[in-house]
Amino acid sequence: MGEPISVPLLDLSAQNQPLAADLKDAFARVLDSSQFILGPEVAGFESLAAESVRTRHAIGVSSGTDALLLSLMTLGIGPGDEVLCPSFTFFATAGAIARVGATPVFVDSVDTDFNIDLNDAERRLTGKTKAIIPVHLFGQPADMDGVQRLAKAHGLAVVEDAAQSMGATFGCRQVGTMGELSAFSFFPSKNLGGFGDGGMITTNDDDLAKRARVLRVHGSEPKYYHKVIGGNFRMDPLHAALLRIKLSHFSSYLAKRRANAAQYLERLAQCDHVAEGRMVLPTEIVGRSHTWNQFTLRVCNGKRDALQSHLASNNIGSAIYYPVALHQQECFAHVPSFGESLPVCEQLAGEVLSIPIYPGLTEEQLGHVADTLANAPI
Ligand SMILES: *Cc1c(COP(=O)(O)O)cnc(C)c1O
Repeated sequence: MGEPISVPLLDLSAQNQPLAADLKDAFARVLDSSQFILGPEVAGFESLAAESVRTRHAIGVSSGTDALLLSLMTLGIGPGDEVLCPSFTFFATAGAIARVGATPVFVDSVDTDFNIDLNDAERRLTGKTKAIIPVHLFGQPADMDGVQRLAKAHGLAVVEDAAQSMGATFGCRQVGTMGELSAFSFFPSKNLGGFGDGGMITTNDDDLAKRARVLRVHGSEPKYYHKVIGGNFRMDPLHAALLRIKLSHFSSYLAKRRANAAQYLERLAQCDHVAEGRMVLPTEIVGRSHTWNQFTLRVCNGKRDALQSHLASNNIGSAIYYPVALHQQECFAHVPSFGESLPVCEQLAGEVLSIPIYPGLTEEQLGHVADTLANAPI
């Protein structure tokens, strides 16, 4: 017998180690420059990132969370305003709404693609609704035609939460180009994984871009004169220099994620668990390209946690994104939709399991995960 195969949920060194020499050069360049706040490294990364997303402006910021917060601040959303968002998403989507003093209005999801249910969103509109934040969850674009129809009919601003979906497309449009503003994250596990916290806002609107840039530096324009209250939301030049190197390999990372997903779908489609409905595989909706930031199964027979333990005992990492929907989080007890029933979100929280899909996964590792899943005693 050989060594048992081990498959972590995420292996960052497989992606970063081959770039070590280039990364160290970038570090040396920034060290020698002594420019540690904004400047040409950040501007250089922003123009390459804008080109990659095919948008007029990209604004480097301190995290994906801050990209959401700064987007809402840029739109002037605040106390008395309501913002629609899915309940089945990462906390930051709704946290940003609450932090500008607005009220998150939690919307149910669609179980086929894990994204916001626009019929439910429409039912929750009021005279106070100012914006909607569709999240392209796990890398699958939300129905942006539907989002834009709803937004247009009711005068809502659209902020795309593209934290998990850099590189995804909806029809011929790229994610991050369809909202007034869009938020990206470079958290290490995201499609463009950085070396600490980082994020970006994209927009095609020159005025919004200008406003976001001013708010990024305490609302200072010119320096030490403040007409508005902003914050410190800057991306570090060191991080920009490092991210620029990874951005030049970004399309190969995406291609590898997509190839891994295709392999899983092919290998698992015929297994008994899927054929007999105990396990539901994720799908890529026709006309949208999925970035497979996560490959998320649904285990429908109540054995999700047992499956996760079975994977762990076979040295396979997995994670539950997300175990509790946001409309059930204690911190939102003051929000009117707290405790309401959002049946699909609640069902998903009890069924989902994400398995390793990172670009550096080997054929052997992927085979081990697929075989272990197919033969799991669930
Ligand atoms: C990761 C993530 C964020 C937050 O990004 P950070 O860079 O971690 O602050 C926001 N929304 C979603 C959907 C995310 O996955």
